[in-house]
Amino acid sequence: TEAAAQPHALPADPAPVAPDRDLMSKFDGLIAERRALLDSGVTDPFAIVMEQVKSPTEAVIEGRDTILLGTYNYMGMTFDPDVIAAGHAALDRFGSGTNGSRMLNGTFQDHMEVEQALRDFYGTTGAIVFSTGYMANLGMISTLAGKGDYVILDADSHASIYDGCKQGVAEIVRFRHNSVEDLDKRLGRLPKDAGKLVVLEGVYSMLGDIAPLKEMVAVARKHGAMVLSDEAHSMGFYGPNGRGVYEAQGCEGDVDFIVGTFSKSVGTVGGFCVSNHPKFEAIRLACRPYIFTASLPPSVVATAAASIRKLATATAKRAQLWTNARTLHAGLRQLGFRLGTEQADSAIIAVILEDQQQAAMMWQALLHAGLYVNLARPPATPAGTFLLRCSLCAEHTPAQIERVLGMFADAGRAVGVIA
Ligand code: PMP
Repeated sequence: TEAAAQPHALPADPAPVAPDRDLMSKFDGLIAERRALLDSGVTDPFAIVMEQVKSPTEAVIEGRDTILLGTYNYMGMTFDPDVIAAGHAALDRFGSGTNGSRMLNGTFQDHMEVEQALRDFYGTTGAIVFSTGYMANLGMISTLAGKGDYVILDADSHASIYDGCKQGVAEIVRFRHNSVEDLDKRLGRLPKDAGKLVVLEGVYSMLGDIAPLKEMVAVARKHGAMVLSDEAHSMGFYGPNGRGVYEAQGCEGDVDFIVGTFSKSVGTVGGFCVSNHPKFEAIRLACRPYIFTASLPPSVVATAAASIRKLATATAKRAQLWTNARTLHAGLRQLGFRLGTEQADSAIIAVILEDQQQAAMMWQALLHAGLYVNLARPPATPAGTFLLRCSLCAEHTPAQIERVLGMFADAGRAVGVIA
């Protein structure tokens, strides 16, 4: 028979599953919502392909030269010649992958080197690299907070922080976004002698706002809690050494764990946690998202190490990134857009739109003009907002920013967002 001739072919008609037992039917709502969006004639905002990447700020999308204003490439390290050379060298010397966990055969020379680069960058005694920033949060939160402990987190926390809570067995307490008072109140209701981990973020990635870390860390300390700060969106350009918002606000001595990623300022992929805790190394023995997955390829950790070493002294880039963020914020505000923050608090500038339809139309008008920004929507965004997230790069030129503002002006008027 036909099936016998093709032993690996799937049967033409899979055994029927009753609709109420079809596990895929839970996605019907999502499928319908997406269909409605696409039927309105917009390009699928979640299926963009970079056909060519020319520099940290330019790509070809749908055959068109496009300015990238929606990547996390804050410091523009992806095309740095030293970073690329380090990756090539590691690929040649160590091959394409590790084929194993850090705990077994997956620790190569460059994993040691990148952890040393992190200790030097953050001035800590400990550094542990994970395969992504998502897994660093997943692993650190679920491993630190055990049975009977409490994790106290900001309501607007990143998905990886929420998932770290779900993966673990600790009790979860949420406080109102950036509210020092609510944090204090909720900590005050917890048993005095229970273990507590307060999880904060330096920069919140949807609106680009920053946390009042100094006050929050003081409150956490008052209640005997330990503190973990996710500094994913501040590395390289916040604080005197580029360590993050916690450094800029002078609370280095009071934050126990810093989580970060290689997928933003560092310009590759990977995650990490750094700490001065004397027992920090024990995490490697107990943390499931560290142990039960393959380690990063040698080329990735080699590029990360080279990039981190350069970020430590990238003063001119830092200054340029801040100038770019302030120029864009001021320009968009002057055009009459509603923005996520009063001033440029970070390298993320969020443009708030009325609804999905308006956001999608604006996003598409910008794309067709040659500008890529992130379209963000609930549940990723706070308070049900639809927004266009612009993230700046130190490599954006003043001329590019001027062009970006021109495109926002045209698209905003065409769609009716601004007068
Ligand atoms: N934390 C925050 C605050 C993030 O925004 C992100 C990613 N956007 C992560 C962690 C996860 O980082 P990664 O991309 O390395 O998984």
